Amino acid sequence: MTATVIDGKAFAAKVRGLVAEGVTKLKEEQGITPGLAVVLVGEDPASQVYVRSKGKMTVEVGMTSIEHKLEVDTSEADLLALIDQLNNDPKVHGILVQLPLPDHLDSDLVINSIDPAKDVDGFHISNVGLLGTGQKSMVPCTPLGSLMMLRDHHGSLSGMNAVVIGRSNIVGKPMAQLLLGDSCTVTIAHSRTKDLAAVVRQADIVVAAVGRPQMVPGDWIKPGATVIDVGINRIDKPEGGTRLVGDVDFDSCAEVAGAITPVPGGVGPMTIACLLANTLTACCRANGLPEPEGLTA
Ligand code: NAP
Repeated sequence: MTATVIDGKAFAAKVRGLVAEGVTKLKEEQGITPGLAVVLVGEDPASQVYVRSKGKMTVEVGMTSIEHKLEVDTSEADLLALIDQLNNDPKVHGILVQLPLPDHLDSDLVINSIDPAKDVDGFHISNVGLLGTGQKSMVPCTPLGSLMMLRDHHGSLSGMNAVVIGRSNIVGKPMAQLLLGDSCTVTIAHSRTKDLAAVVRQADIVVAAVGRPQMVPGDWIKPGATVIDVGINRIDKPEGGTRLVGDVDFDSCAEVAGAITPVPGGVGPMTIACLLANTLTACCRANGLPEPEGLTA
């Protein structure tokens, strides 16, 4: 293997450490404790795991964790009323509604009812517009974590060719906006892209956010490129049981790339770390205080 493996787990621990320092300072100097409210509707097992681990890490960095677990058949009116209550609660600085929501609830309507200043997932239409126009916004956590790792590894990204595979609203599109903001030349590829291999071979930075296990082979990678693997896919092991893999074929890509994130232990841990970073940022902004350094885009 030639590539440097970017250790997302260690990087995320560092980010959480910085957040914890920021929280301590806020408490000691301002008497303010940042609060993150997470709303879970229904009993999706994966969502329950995410919400539990978000709550645990929120408390570990010294913030207040508020969890609202609602029945699967909660009405839209009741959910919107809860969000309105959280929007108006001065102790709540960040609000996250765990997705996916049950089918009878309109996710866009629900997300757009969150106060944009408290929208720590960065999915509100106002934050999407602010990011797209290069203004101060709340930035979606997974792309923010990916950007932090790229900046840490490269310093400046200016002038680099970046290819983002995937155009989802939660990863691909905001990732592309962030890379553009850092002066990369950005291509967004998707399922209709012609000759994806040739497109990816141009890239100094490849971000794969597709949801297809090990789709990107090493011979698509330009020698020395940096590969950020956002994918989280569970596949069967030949000997039985399952394991997690990304959207790139780690072994063959690591032979060619200059740097690569593993799965697990790459982008994944950065997502919750950036959620906490966003909550701290939202709290500082709400109180007219300077933003924490190195934790925003
Ligand atoms: P998504 O909404 O399903 O979007 C997938 C994107 O991949 C779409 O834009 C799709 O193109 C594109 N695509 C599908 N097949 C393709 C192909 N053969 N060639 C090129 N592009 C193709 O997924 P997502 O929510 O962005 O998530 C992507 C992956 O990241 C998943 O594995 C997910 O689990 C993971 N993820 C990880 C984290 C984390 O914390 N690490 C967070 C979020 C997501 P079209 O638009 O043309 O259909």
